[in-house]
Amino acid sequence: MKVISSIAAMQRQSAKWVCSGESVGFVPTMGALHEGHLSLIRRARKECKAVVVSIYVNPTQFGPKEDFSQYPRPRREDLALCRKAGVDFVFAPGNLYLPDHSTFIEESAVSQGRDGASRPGHFRGVATVVLKLFNIVRSTKAYFGQKDAQQVDVIKRMVRDLDVPVKIVVCSTLRDPDGLAMSSRNRYLSPEERAVGVEFAQLLQKAARLRANQAQWLQAQLKKVSGLRVDYVESAGNRLCAAIFVGKTRLIDNQQMR
Ligand code: AMP
Repeated sequence: MKVISSIAAMQRQSAKWVCSGESVGFVPTMGALHEGHLSLIRRARKECKAVVVSIYVNPTQFGPKEDFSQYPRPRREDLALCRKAGVDFVFAPGNLYLPDHSTFIEESAVSQGRDGASRPGHFRGVATVVLKLFNIVRSTKAYFGQKDAQQVDVIKRMVRDLDVPVKIVVCSTLRDPDGLAMSSRNRYLSPEERAVGVEFAQLLQKAARLRANQAQWLQAQLKKVSGLRVDYVESAGNRLCAAIFVGKTRLIDNQQMR
């Protein structure tokens, strides 16, 4: 496994596979890897000749009061997990932005509402960094988790609208046995807070199985849970989506409705 930290070195490598035409699978991450990330990597491993994982905590997708500086960065463990999963290249740049960076990607339809409303500027940062990464890595496929449902919609729309030559593969959400969706941010939770997160996941799953009024029912149930603050509950297409705060930690999840 090769670890690459400069844009130029990554681009020298990607020029080779663009030339040879081999299939390359790309999994963009912010590190603090867990089984959810690994499921994306395994899928890429199965479908592509070479696998690239990026590890980069992207500053432009965090709000000024969010957890950018505290975000976990267990670099050594992450590299060990990548090596074990058969990753060929880890792209782990120190910084992706020049001091006078002034170009941003703004998707203006599916990024509205939900996380887009709660985290102003978040999807602008996501779309910008993902397009930069696509231009650097130049993979044939890129793998994203359904857990971040709105992010998937934004990336798919950007790829479609800007004719980016990459196929987006969406992978289902990996959960702990008690139902909590795996997330790097689960590391922030105390045992009591984690129990609230589990209740959230279980109520969301129950709500998604109802025949009607799923969002209203879930909103009402979540209100009764102490130690939990609802950010939003909304249906989007056939998915019931929700975000909550447990203490200072924000958790998001979604489930397909029946
Ligand atoms: P992150 O490191 O949080 O930016 O996530 C990197 C990628 O992993 C994104 O495409 C996420 O949607 C995906 N991901 C995160 N958690 C999970 C999970 N529990 N199951 C499946 N994919 C996930």
